[in-house]
Amino acid sequence: MNLSDDVKFVKGVGPQRVKLLNKLNIFTLEDLITYYPRDYEDRSKPKKIAETQNGEEVLIEAIVTSRMREIRTYKRNMTIYKLIVRDETDSCELIWYNQSYLKNMFQIGKKYKFYGKINKKIGMAEMLSPVYDAEEKSKNTGKIIPIYPITYNLSQNTIRQIIENGLNLADGKIEETMPEYLLEEYKLFNLKDAISKIHFPADFGEFEKARYRLAFEELITMQLLLLSLKNKYKNKNAGIQFNSNIKMSDVINDLPFKLTKAQLRVLEEIDKDMESEEAMNRLLQGDVGSGKTVVAIIAAYKAVKSGYQMAIMAPTSILASQHLESFESILSKYNIKCELLLGNTPKKKKEDILERLKNGEIDVIIGTHSLLEENVIFKNLGLVVTDEQHRFGVRQRSTLCSKGKNPDVLVMTATPIPRTLALILYGDLDISIIDELPPNRKKIDTFAVRKSMEERVNNFVKKQVDEGRQAYIVCPLVEENEEINAKSVLELAEKYKTEVFKDYKVEYLHGKMRPKEKDEIMQRFKDKEIDILISTTVIEVGVNIPNANIMVIENAERFGLAQLHQLRGRVGRGEYQSYCILKYEGNSEIIRKRMQVMQETNDGFVISEKDLELRGSGEFFGTKQHGLPEFKVANLFEDIKVLKLVQSISMKILQEDPLLQEEKNKRLKKLIDEKLQNRIEI
Ligand code: ADP
Ligand code: MG
Repeated sequence: MNLSDDVKFVKGVGPQRVKLLNKLNIFTLEDLITYYPRDYEDRSKPKKIAETQNGEEVLIEAIVTSRMREIRTYKRNMTIYKLIVRDETDSCELIWYNQSYLKNMFQIGKKYKFYGKINKKIGMAEMLSPVYDAEEKSKNTGKIIPIYPITYNLSQNTIRQIIENGLNLADGKIEETMPEYLLEEYKLFNLKDAISKIHFPADFGEFEKARYRLAFEELITMQLLLLSLKNKYKNKNAGIQFNSNIKMSDVINDLPFKLTKAQLRVLEEIDKDMESEEAMNRLLQGDVGSGKTVVAIIAAYKAVKSGYQMAIMAPTSILASQHLESFESILSKYNIKCELLLGNTPKKKKEDILERLKNGEIDVIIGTHSLLEENVIFKNLGLVVTDEQHRFGVRQRSTLCSKGKNPDVLVMTATPIPRTLALILYGDLDISIIDELPPNRKKIDTFAVRKSMEERVNNFVKKQVDEGRQAYIVCPLVEENEEINAKSVLELAEKYKTEVFKDYKVEYLHGKMRPKEKDEIMQRFKDKEIDILISTTVIEVGVNIPNANIMVIENAERFGLAQLHQLRGRVGRGEYQSYCILKYEGNSEIIRKRMQVMQETNDGFVISEKDLELRGSGEFFGTKQHGLPEFKVANLFEDIKVLKLVQSISMKILQEDPLLQEEKNKRLKKLIDEKLQNRIEI
């Protein structure tokens, strides 16, 4: 059997189980054997019965001292099987329900291993439904047992057995992916060992080695890919030296507000870059509301007055339109011409814009992905800014840059990834951080509440709206699929419109609406024609409506913390005390901790770190929302050491062999080509 063959050919996989496996995204043999455990149970070290604790799950080695007793309970139509075993220290009663096949399984006087949960409340110790092995063979006990993430209706035992069968079939078919010299130098397990031992390690040392090897591979693949993309797009020509007689301070002194110290510091860094002969490549990190836009505007001023054009790309048309407003409000008095180019800009208008962009009549172009189109041609593009970088890939950024001659680049993001991580993921960028909010911003009061508080929440919203404010209600994230989310918005909006908030002006917004409709709704919300706006996360980034002071987030437990923080940043933009209400369900410790973090801190960096730390197993809490690559094994947070190591290895490899053409790097080249083919966006 080949790795790409259908999983239905694996022993133990019938039609029913195929369906369940498919639900886990397991379609081929390869998918099966790379469905890695999320946890392990240590059944490798036996304990003496006398030393076990009540409630503990343990392995014991004991001799059977009685015959199996069979007790029928007619009332509940159940048969209970009881067996007494003992070791040197104590006796223990083993109890099973309805497992008649066990009846003649055990021989008196023979030693077995049993693994199960101990009950020591009264009398003799008991072990409930233990798994067991005869001493000479260890299938269910005596080793570290993998626990798989989600299994639907497959029991852990079943999936474990299927994976074991799969591994047997895959034996000899797993092709090594790492070059020999790396395996040797870093003492890595070969791929076959790594895969089989991450499922069935003999001890935790082996597990660590297996995990290390797999994480190493994931991370080095990412690093090589990132670095080679960067090399490819890096233009060796000198950058633009913007005119040092154009003073940013001329704009700064004219602003209606005073810039924060952090904004001034960042602008100084940018100014220096712009005047130097090297092209600027800078990442600007700043929490939501920290005022990144005005920084971009001032940089645009410098670029335009030095004789160049500037382009800024935003992920949504709402955001781009808002940027146009901000840019014009500051730049029009300096006679700087700004235009907006969106996907739905009417054909005629578009042609006109493209024409004027080409001949240099437009100084600043603001747009969405539409800026990437081939027919967008500049006369003299000198500065490129991308806003909310986590929505774009490296490649999109380079496409825009290639429309100029080595322009200066500023990448703005509100996703505050930990600095160490940023240094590696954005290895070729200098980093500026705005770590201070403009003064007089009130802390957004955040409350995490359960469903039972719903009515009080609704009354609170009504009260605020009665006082003249506006509210956002964000719908649960059903899936990372706007189509399905749109449906949930409609349902919720219906309920709120006709029942709960029927005396108020309620509207809704979702990603499947046409951009024109969306913009219209946003405009009406801005003009206070709408009291309560229900939406998916499309309002996530950058929207600025100071009068809106409440955000209610439904099923907040389904969002990542970084995303909750971004959403929350939509309020608290005006003079009013603002509130964020997180409605959540579920009792797990992780959920409670996550909600607590949101209540306790408004610091995006702290939240981002906690988010990675408290990452649940659910896909919604993945790194996707950080705009970071996702891995099966590696964890960007815990594996920072491995990441640093593979970064230096990757740089060395690419220095010697930039295109990975050497024979010894053949396997690496293959790995990267595969990733590129799958269009993994980084
Ligand atoms: P973000 O960093 O999230 O993109 P924005 O650039 O949208 O933040 O800024 C948020 C709001 O704060 C805007 O209305 C902007 O005009 C305002 N702002 C920016 N800097 C200052 C400042 N130094 N003082 C007061 N308000 C500011
Ligand atoms: Mg912004």
